[in-house]
Amino acid sequence: MPKQPVPAIGIDLGTTYSAIAKIDDTGRPITLPNGEGDLLTPSVVLFEGTNVVVGKEAVKALVTEAEDVALCPKRDLGNRAYHKALHGRQYPPEAIEAWILKKLKDDAAKQIGDFQQVVITVPAYFDEVRRKATQDAGYMAGLEVMDIINEPTAAAVAFGFREGFLNAEGIATEPKNILVYDLGGGTFDVTVMEIRGNQFTALATDGDVRLGGQDWDQRLMDLVAEEFIRHHRLDPRDDPNVVGRLWRECEDVKRTLSARAKASIACDFRGQAVRVELTRQKFEEITRDLVDRTLFTTRQTLQAAGLAWANVDRVLLVGGSSRMPMIRDMLVKLSGKEPDTSVSADEAVAHGAALRAALILARSNGEPPRFHIRNVNSHSLGLAAIDPQTKRKRTAVLIPRNTPLPIAAKRTFKTEKANQRSILVQIVEGESASPDDCSQIGRCTVRDLPPNLPAQTPIEVRFRYLENGRLTVNVEVEGTNKKLQHEIARENSLSPEQLDMWRQYISGIAPGAGPKSQE
Ligand code: AMP
Repeated sequence: MPKQPVPAIGIDLGTTYSAIAKIDDTGRPITLPNGEGDLLTPSVVLFEGTNVVVGKEAVKALVTEAEDVALCPKRDLGNRAYHKALHGRQYPPEAIEAWILKKLKDDAAKQIGDFQQVVITVPAYFDEVRRKATQDAGYMAGLEVMDIINEPTAAAVAFGFREGFLNAEGIATEPKNILVYDLGGGTFDVTVMEIRGNQFTALATDGDVRLGGQDWDQRLMDLVAEEFIRHHRLDPRDDPNVVGRLWRECEDVKRTLSARAKASIACDFRGQAVRVELTRQKFEEITRDLVDRTLFTTRQTLQAAGLAWANVDRVLLVGGSSRMPMIRDMLVKLSGKEPDTSVSADEAVAHGAALRAALILARSNGEPPRFHIRNVNSHSLGLAAIDPQTKRKRTAVLIPRNTPLPIAAKRTFKTEKANQRSILVQIVEGESASPDDCSQIGRCTVRDLPPNLPAQTPIEVRFRYLENGRLTVNVEVEGTNKKLQHEIARENSLSPEQLDMWRQYISGIAPGAGPKSQE
């Protein structure tokens, strides 16, 4: 029997919805429906003892068992544990993400046969810690994550493919600048990309990992709750099951208001009820500051790319929340251009990831690549150093944000005192001059330095930052044989042993209650 070719699979692991796509026999990306027949799977997980339910059914459980439901675990990536216990137990957010990936994988495998190799997307604005957690989630789900790529880059690739930039014959020579505005359920990303023939280059990227459709839902929920309090002196937000029901209702009404000028939301709680009539205009008023936050970031990103609106050929809308008319209106006003919605807001990211997977698989078969991707880093990377003048801690940047990747950078520091026996290297990511206000990526200690090392001995620190946003660090102390190729010890990361235990548990190989709870 001929060997089945390895399928090229891409996964959009979204905050509120996830999708999985493959490249079909004609070379085009298609979304694979889940077991319920839907193209999108809610990123919602219900824990009922050892039984774990993902997707639509978990959303339904929000009305009755809200306490045991994990909503948007992606927002908690980078933390040690999900922000609440589920069925009496703490879980690392990446393990919850792994259950979502496993459902996508199992449902897809029923249609196309088993597979392991995938590309998973992440918001461009994700830091190193969250990227690592996403890769770990893939591992725990029994997948082999060939690469992680940025969501807006994936969307741009899907767009480029549609436009024919990637067809051997149709390669466009005219460079095109596109701005990808990606407002999903929980994150916002904006990226400026240049497409020159089959070369996709990110020029600048920025965003907000805590801004998305959920914030619009929350505004509606607060509005209804305030009406409730006004009428009945009761706050429906006190009951998690009512909150679950109200959230579903508000999310629905939000979608209605994308199509209609008015809608109403009903809420009942402890035998009392209110009905709130809402116009689109009112909804836009109570969420204007959220839109403005995205406007501000969009403007800044364009500036960082060194472009004016006149140089932008297309404004590409992706992410489900970009369907809200207020987003389109804001962008028309800001850019003077009608945004492009030609790629499906929900599927573009998964499609781009599948195209990327096809590229990697082709390369491993020795075939020439059909397109190239060049990314930039979304946060500055550096070390916590002591300023020799002020003796205060200061961020010493090795790789400024928006640097094209991959990149290697080095910087020389000096030991502080004579006879120093160890050096602590603390790696940080962010834009603040104070390392304490940056995100802590990890730390490593160079120990057992030879005695009598003079003060001011040079220490060379090298960073190697890959296209997928993963980092390796080398430290060398001059005049000694101390060299450290560092696997950073991450504060909140799971150990390889823990990852293996979770992988077995999630796959159902290891019976029982699974790995020990996180502290
Ligand atoms: P994504 O993570 O890209 O799948 O985006 C999901 C988010 O898009 C959720 O917050 C949805 O409520 C929101 N969304 C999807 N469709 C619409 C719509 N027609 N109008 C407003 N928001 C929408």
